[in-house]
Amino acid sequence: MKQILSIIFFVMLFVACENEPKVEDNTLKITEKNIVAPDFNADSAYQYVKSQVDFGPRVPNSESHVKCANYLISEMKKYADSVYVQQFTANAYNGDKLKAKNIIAEFNSNQTNRILLFAHWDSRPYADHSENPEEWEVPIDGANDGASGVGVLMEIARNLHAKMPTVGVDIIFFDVEDYGQADHKNLPYQEDTWCLGSQYWSKNKHIPGYYAKYGILLDMVGAKNAFFTKEGTSVYFAPSIVDRVWKIAEKSGYGNFFLNQKTSPVTDDHYYVNILAQIPSIDIIQHDPTTESGFGAYWHTHNDNMSIIDKVTLQAVGQTVLELIYSEK
Ligand SMILES: [Zn+2]
Repeated sequence: MKQILSIIFFVMLFVACENEPKVEDNTLKITEKNIVAPDFNADSAYQYVKSQVDFGPRVPNSESHVKCANYLISEMKKYADSVYVQQFTANAYNGDKLKAKNIIAEFNSNQTNRILLFAHWDSRPYADHSENPEEWEVPIDGANDGASGVGVLMEIARNLHAKMPTVGVDIIFFDVEDYGQADHKNLPYQEDTWCLGSQYWSKNKHIPGYYAKYGILLDMVGAKNAFFTKEGTSVYFAPSIVDRVWKIAEKSGYGNFFLNQKTSPVTDDHYYVNILAQIPSIDIIQHDPTTESGFGAYWHTHNDNMSIIDKVTLQAVGQTVLELIYSEK
């Protein structure tokens, strides 16, 4: 994912924020009585993250990528009503033809009132933000950038199987999010080189006419001492969902992870789900004010490995999303 540089977007965002209606404070009061969410197991989520990383970097067209896809599909078949595998060829910015798979798990199939949860399962083929140029072409583990979001969603899937919520839930693991234009190659800028899996799905949904009332993306949700801010693209497209999730986090005791602070928009899978699939979607993504990128210092380097993953952060995000799901009528 990348920080959005578009001036037009900033202008739109500014106008949107100016006109944004005040969300009523009683949103949570209505739902909180009904919260009977199961306990999110961070040990289990951690193991799901590690299992992905243990395959090696999940770079499209690699053996590790194929093996990890098979693992994710077989795990989700244990928990979901149905699993769809969407195979396609993604055209990368450099002409590479990538064999890609979006993995879609459906829960509570008969329910028409549905929500969508998603994360990307591929890992970046480059460490183009490493300080050492010799590392730039070496793929990264993507323990946080990729595997953490998928790991949290796998643990949520396990919970959904044990106790079906009222709402229908679809979980998508998008492929080829992180094969975007390499910064170290200094090529002329190309549009839309990131998030190829979510772009494909948004134009070719697994069920024609599929709709969810909102979507939540989890990206980089497992690093030690992480916190999450109200990211600009999310606030622009789905302000009431941002507000609801942040309030639930606070009520659940995770207010120190979910800060009441707006930050710049990023281009991530939720951007395409918003503009192409037209499902209002937010991104729960770590923000780090101390780096130029706004992402953690490990971002797109080889420091994005299991050593930075903290169960406490996985717990904060996983329990918050579970509380949201089980508060739905
Ligand atoms: Zn990335």
